[in-house]
Formats: sequence, C-alpha cells, structure tokens
Amino acid sequence: MTEMNDLRALPSVDQLLQSGQAAEWIDTYGRPLTVDALREALAAARAGVQSGRPVPAFDDLLNNAHNLLQIWLAPTLRPVINASGVVLHTNLGRAPLSRAALAAIQQTASAYNTLEYDLVRGARGSRSMHAEALLTRLTGAQAALVVNNNAAAVLLALSALAKRRRVIISRTQLVEIGGGFRVPEVMAQSGARLVEVGTTNRVHLADYETALSEPAAMVLHAHSSNFRIIGFTAEPALAEVAALAHCQGVPFIDDLGSGALLDTARFGLSHEPTVQESLAAGSDLVCFSGDKLLGGPQAGILIGRSDLIAKIKKHPLARAVRADKLCLAALSATLAHYLKDEAEREIPIWRFLAQTPDQLERRASAWAAALGRGEVLAGKSTVGGGSLPEETLPTRLFALKVRQPNAALALLRQADPPVIAYIENDYVLLDPRTVLPEQEEDLLRALRGLPGE
Ligand SMILES: *Cc1c(COP(=O)(O)O)cnc(C)c1O
Repeated sequence: MTEMNDLRALPSVDQLLQSGQAAEWIDTYGRPLTVDALREALAAARAGVQSGRPVPAFDDLLNNAHNLLQIWLAPTLRPVINASGVVLHTNLGRAPLSRAALAAIQQTASAYNTLEYDLVRGARGSRSMHAEALLTRLTGAQAALVVNNNAAAVLLALSALAKRRRVIISRTQLVEIGGGFRVPEVMAQSGARLVEVGTTNRVHLADYETALSEPAAMVLHAHSSNFRIIGFTAEPALAEVAALAHCQGVPFIDDLGSGALLDTARFGLSHEPTVQESLAAGSDLVCFSGDKLLGGPQAGILIGRSDLIAKIKKHPLARAVRADKLCLAALSATLAHYLKDEAEREIPIWRFLAQTPDQLERRASAWAAALGRGEVLAGKSTVGGGSLPEETLPTRLFALKVRQPNAALALLRQADPPVIAYIENDYVLLDPRTVLPEQEEDLLRALRGLPGE
C-alpha cells in the first residue's frame, strides 16, 4: 500500500494555488488556465507514482505546471530568419511587408475605419472600392476586385463567368501549382466544363480555333508557374489567342500567378510577364497574387473589363472569399509604392532581389569576421513563389564546415528567432540576400551558439 501513501503525499490543487508562484501566474495567465496547468501537472505526477516513479517535490510540480503554461501560450506563428536565399518562400510566409504597409495595418486595426462606410453620404459604402482606384490607375484596367488569394480569384472568375459552360485551355497549362492547386480541379470545382486543346508540349492557334467553333464561356490562359516545358514546344502569343477569342465574342482570361508590376529583367532575371503586358495583349481579365512578386499581403487581384468585374462582384462566392480590412490596408500601401515609383526602394522583396554580389559579399564577410569562423562562397539565390522556375541570381553565401551539418541546422531552428539555413556539400550555408539587416544581430547570436568544427 506504499502507492496509496505516496499518492496521499501529493499536494492538492488548492495547496499549489496558495504558493507565491501560482499567485504570479494567475496575474500573468489568468486563474482558469493556471488551475488547468496545476491539475494537469498533478495528474501527470499521479500517473508517474502509480507506475512506480517517486513523488515529485512541491517545487518540481510547480515548475512542470509553469512549463505547461508556457507551451500552451507559445505562438506557433513566429517570425524566423530566412537564410535560405528563396525570396518568396511559400512555407515562410512569402513577402515581408514594407514599413508603410505595416503602418497601414496598425492604423486600420487599432480603430474603427471606413471599410464599408461612405463619409460623404454618411451611409453604407463599398469594401471593394479601397484598392480599386490604385489598381486601375497603375494598370490602366477599367475595374478591379481584391479577394482572399489568387486561387480564390480564379475559382470566383470561373464560377461567375463559366458555370456549366465550356472553358478552353491548353494542355500545356494544366499544371499543379503546389499546395494542392491544380488548374483542372479548380475548373471542375467552379462547375465549368474543361475543354483541353493541344498537347502536353505543343499547342497551335488552329487548336484554339477548332475549339472555338462551338460556343464557349471563355478562353483561359494559366501561367505554368513553377514548371517549364523545354525542347520541342510551341505556344501562340497571348495576343494572338486573345484576338481569336475576341473574334468569336469570347472573353480571354489570364491567370498570371505571380503578377509582376516591375520588369524582373532589370534585376538580372529573365523577363516575367507583367500585368500591364497581359492587359496590352488583350486579356479581358487578369488574376494574380498579392504576396508573390507584388510584394504585398496575401490577396487575389482581379483586374480588367468593368462588365466582367461587375458580374464577378455579384456572385455569392465573392462574399465568401472577400479580402479583409488588414489586407486591403496593406495592399493599398504596397500599391502606392508602385505609383510613387519607389517600389524598388520600399518593397522588401525588390530590395532583396536588387542586391548585387558585391553587396552580398560584404555582408557575408562581415558575418565571418564577427564570428571569427566560416568562409564566403559563391552561390545562387532563387525567386520562389511559383515564378521564374530554374532562375537563379548570383549570390555570396556564409558557409560553415561543421562535423554534423544536420544537427547544426536543427540547432539553428531552435534559436530565437529560429534561423532557416540549408546544406550543400556538407557545408551549412546562409544566404544574406533574404536576411533582413535588422535581423543580423540575432542571426550572429544564433551562429555563436553552434559547436565548433
Ligand atoms: C500561385 C498561383 C496561384 C495561386 O495563388 P495564391 O495567391 O497562392 O492563392 C494560382 N495560379 C497561378 C498560376 C499561380 O502561380
């Protein structure tokens, strides 16, 4: 019966609550959660005793309860230091926002606002007007609509414009973008009828012409995103397909994916089709993301003909996928950078892309000097975010030779904030391109915590 006696030796929840520590936790974490943690710590101790472990000390029980409180409340969505060199890393939250976009979020979120209020009329206004004027001024499009993300934008456009009707798309574009977004499945979800033309590697204008001999709701063009067909390939120009569709009175819709507003060729990358070019080629609607090469918050942007946008706005799904006030605030501030011709200076992703190998070399060398270890190697950064597949930018890497590179990577992930590095040829590599200058001190502290060679 020693076990029964041992169980009796455990304190009660009330006794634990009388302690000075528990009083502090009640202040910090609130009473109900503190009581829960003490109960759970006691239950674990009881189970331990029943399986033969000794009765824990009073202070150990309290410590266990405190650990639980910290674990329960630790945020799972945490800032990290992205040393991977992938500028638009989907797993790491894609685009960090500009200072102005952050300020706009703070201002909008901390008070009531004009989300759906018309100050002139003193009556209900429209949420959809907020980014619309900026988008139409920037791109010359007649109208614009912002929704939750680009997947929603494409689904909404298809649902509103093509339900139960034929949508013509080339087999070269029936891609899976990642995260389960497959063009044919989104089309099926919208109720549109998929009409495939061409082959996996080649499609001709005549293929579209044949398909357009029967009535259709739209011709859809989808950017092949993270995928590239090379070799024996053929695809007519966007303008040719759009003109053909228009001959039959059928709208042409372009899912651009990344939707660059600046020419990526200026940054030593190949040219990513821009939103303005798609409109100039005759697209009636263009869909693109807010947090890829635009460098703003998660959003899906639809721009184009006002009659089509009006029809889309009226569809019930539009309400289900609408953008929230914080997104609209941050997006408007981001778009303003483009209008003011300061995007390269103010939008973090363009600043990252614009860094020269010389500048990156200076940063990586400074890290090596500060740490008294490591070396600087030439390497490659990538854009990510489903744009410019296979494209790289020359960079300089801070490289550490350690005995156990995987263990070092895991240690860096345990740092606060966590550091995301990578391994190549047994080197632990860190790319300064995607490390924010204000994160460098934290990064160096994390690196100092690594064991020597
Ligand atoms: C990324 C992408 C999408 C999905 O955009 P989200 O904003 O991530 O929802 C859709 N289409 C294409 C071509 C893409 O590249």
